[in-house]
Amino acid sequence: MPRQSRLSRTAARAARSQPLVSRAAPALGARDRRPVIAVQDVTKVYRLGTVSVHALRGVSVRIQRGDFVAIMGSSGSGKSTLMNILGCLDAPTGGRYLIDGMDASKLDEDELSDLRNRKIGFVFQSFNLVARTKAIANVELPLAYAGLSRAERRRRAELALRSVGMAQRVQHVPAELSGGQQQRVAIARAIVTNPALILADEPTGNLDSHSTKEVLSIFTRLNDEGRTVVLITHEPDVAHQARRVIHLSDGMIDSDLPAAVLQR
Ligand code: ADP
Ligand code: MG
Repeated sequence: MPRQSRLSRTAARAARSQPLVSRAAPALGARDRRPVIAVQDVTKVYRLGTVSVHALRGVSVRIQRGDFVAIMGSSGSGKSTLMNILGCLDAPTGGRYLIDGMDASKLDEDELSDLRNRKIGFVFQSFNLVARTKAIANVELPLAYAGLSRAERRRRAELALRSVGMAQRVQHVPAELSGGQQQRVAIARAIVTNPALILADEPTGNLDSHSTKEVLSIFTRLNDEGRTVVLITHEPDVAHQARRVIHLSDGMIDSDLPAAVLQR
C-alpha cells in the first residue's frame, strides 16, 4: 500500500478519535451539495454456471449529502444488489460508482474496508447482532480497529445506545431483547463510528408497526443531524418518511420523485 494513504488514514483516525456520537451534526450539513453517491450506468450480472442473472441493468443515481432516500421495488428488483454496491460490499459488473468523489473500483480491499468502517453505517433486516454477546459489546465492535482505549470504546458505545433509547439494556444479549430493541442496538452499532452515510436494507421488515415507528423516527433524527440516509423498503408508509423515493423495477429505475409528490 502506498505510504501516503497509510499516513492519511492514520491522520483520519486521529482526527476521528475526538468527537463521535456526542458531536451533534457532523460538518456535513445538507447545505453541502456535493454528491456523496454517484452511480453511473451501473450493471450487475450474477453468473450461476451457464445462467446469467441481470440484477441491475443500467442504473444511474446521484445522492447529495444530507439527503434521505428510500429505494422501493418488488422482491428481486435489485434493491439489495444496489445497496451492496453503494456500501462497497460488492463491485458492479459495468458502469462507475463514485463515493465521496472516489472511484470505488480504484480502491484496494484495505481501502474499501477502511472506507466502510469510517464512512458507512449498515443496518439490515435481520439485525445481524452477535448472539450471546451483550448489547454494549455488539456496539463496541466497530470501534475495535479505531485505536481507542477500552474505556473510550465503552463510553462511545454507551452514548450510542443511549441515543437510541437503549441505555437500560446495555447488559442484555440479543435473545433477551425484542425485535425492535435488537434493531435499535444494531442502529447504535451502525452510528457508533459517526458515519456520514447510513445504508439500511429493509430495516423494518421484521418489525411490528410500533417498533417500525420508533426505528423510523431514529432514521429521521439521524438525517436531521446531517447524515445521508438510504433506506430500502417495500412498504409505502416507510418510504414516505424519506424525502425522495426511487423505485426500482427489474434492475432499472422507473421513477425517482420527491416523497411529497407521492403522498398527494
Ligand atoms: P431485492 O433486494 O430487490 O429483492 P436482489 O438485489 O436481492 O433483489 O436480487 C436481484 C436479482 O438478482 C434477483 O433475481 C436475485 O435472484 C438475483 N441475485 C441476488 N443476489 C444474487 C447472487 N449472489 N447470486 C445470484 N443471483 C443473485
Ligand atoms: Mg433485498
